Amino acid sequence: MTSLSKNALQILKERYLLKDRDGNIIETPQQLFRRVATCVASCEEEQKNVFEEQFYEILNNLLFLPNSPTLMNAGCRNGQLSACFVLPIADSLEAIFSTLKHAALIHQSGGGTGFNFSKLRPKNDFVSTTSGTSSGPVAFMKVYDAATEYVKQGGKRRGANMAILNVNHPDIEEFITSKSSKKAIKNFNISVGITDDFMKAVQQDLSWQLINPHTKKVAKVVKAKAIWQLIVNQAWRTGDPGLIFLSTINILNPTPKMGDIESTNPCGEVPLLNYESCNLGSVNLSKMILKKDLKFEIDWKKLTKTVQLGIRFLDNVITLNHYLLPQIKSITMANRKIGLGVMGWAELLILLEIPYASVEAVSLAEKIMQFIKNESYKASEKLARERGVFPEWKNSIYAPNLKLRNATCNSIAPTGTISVIADTSYSIEPLFAIAYDRIGILGNKRQTEINKLFIQKMKQLNVWNDKLKKTILNAGSIQSTRLVPQSIKSIFKTSLEIPWKYHLMHQQAFQKHTDNAVSKTINLCEDTTEEDISRIFMTAWKYKLKGITVYRHGSKINQVIQKCNLN
Ligand code: ADP
Repeated sequence: MTSLSKNALQILKERYLLKDRDGNIIETPQQLFRRVATCVASCEEEQKNVFEEQFYEILNNLLFLPNSPTLMNAGCRNGQLSACFVLPIADSLEAIFSTLKHAALIHQSGGGTGFNFSKLRPKNDFVSTTSGTSSGPVAFMKVYDAATEYVKQGGKRRGANMAILNVNHPDIEEFITSKSSKKAIKNFNISVGITDDFMKAVQQDLSWQLINPHTKKVAKVVKAKAIWQLIVNQAWRTGDPGLIFLSTINILNPTPKMGDIESTNPCGEVPLLNYESCNLGSVNLSKMILKKDLKFEIDWKKLTKTVQLGIRFLDNVITLNHYLLPQIKSITMANRKIGLGVMGWAELLILLEIPYASVEAVSLAEKIMQFIKNESYKASEKLARERGVFPEWKNSIYAPNLKLRNATCNSIAPTGTISVIADTSYSIEPLFAIAYDRIGILGNKRQTEINKLFIQKMKQLNVWNDKLKKTILNAGSIQSTRLVPQSIKSIFKTSLEIPWKYHLMHQQAFQKHTDNAVSKTINLCEDTTEEDISRIFMTAWKYKLKGITVYRHGSKINQVIQKCNLN
């Protein structure tokens, strides 16, 4: 058994371990992993015990973890196991509030919801039932935001939402600036739904029509560049909005006959049809290694085995899931979308002594994700032979040649909590800092931490001492101290020390072999300019990313991780 870190134990106790009515914890972490393994193996027809043991092994050794709702709810009454949902918002008061009710139920069960608000008529448009005027998408987003605020997930965490408004909606300017004031929407990530036509209009400095979705008439004509500049300025100021590239997403939609994809889940890693849900799991890359001649290398066999089991695990979750609505059950079971991804990428690079900001790292990213994708598809094909293809397969892009059990297999999720449980770096992100204060997500507890791999490395080199510790705690970085050798500095470069081009290249490398999407934040220094942001957004589109989010250091008040500054 792998021992759990202090942070992992704390987070498990606060949110994941089962409690009795009086709030007393009634299971150990090992019992949690056993509960999840037993539940997820329960739909196996043959060799149930063998699979239960194998699932338990990958969980307990922190080689693979599913998304939080599976860890929290598997084996419990009414176990809702998915993290990601997309719900439709139609243009009527009844539809808006009925979807809000569904969103509240999803949040209560631990899931997050994405919505595209573009079908709503714009602010001040005519409403025939009341002979009055409409409030518009942004006003209704505020209603959703307020509801989210008060639906705590069993006291564990607040719900998360994604709001998308298409770039040709008449209220797009109000939407773009909707997170800029202090009273702004809190529980939403917002993204502008971008089409290739819009990007070309920006490139060619053309005018751009804003169209009323209700009347289908042109409401206003603006310069595409003016909208672009507003997006860039707001993203520079606050980190929001991000972009979601709807054309790219729909060119790659695995089930185009079932309709266009209009939205993603809250963090962007899963484009979904209306009412579709998806469950995620992540392989801990920092554990996919073996030691040879005193150096680490990738253990491809272990990776193969973990991916195979991960895909089977996630497919079982679809079968066993408790679905909150019949519409969700029907489309989720029809496409059986799953998203196996990775965490611990930065730590793997450190163990292999490869700098994140290097061409070598980017080509390894491609190689490893291509390998994971191939193994995932092989596993899904094997499941299709055993259990049948997904019901909508004949209408999918895979028919007639590639018989798969799942319409999608891979997603790169942020792994915001599961990487803490696995005690590794987030998703495909570089280290944020070598030393940092971690602020508890629920409370305001602060803890100062120094990266464990860095300490190990310094101890190996016999240079770990109090002076070095103090220097690092003060600076939060190792780049300007002479106490650390240059070779070490380059493999421990942190997020803000990595040029944005490398952030994007990593996102692209993983996206190339991910059938869903990649959730990544392009972290930028405070002195990044608006022109830089514009170039980043344009490059992201040219790289065929499905979405892009930037965050300029210091532009949001509540950061979960802050650079350590003890002065
Ligand atoms: P975790 O590490 O908890 O499994 P991630 O940070 O990888 O979760 O996020 C994966 C997805 O889970 C998100 O895109 C979102 O759909 C959902 N999610 C994350 N945080 C929340 C939350 N607070 N409430 C509801 N859903 C969430």
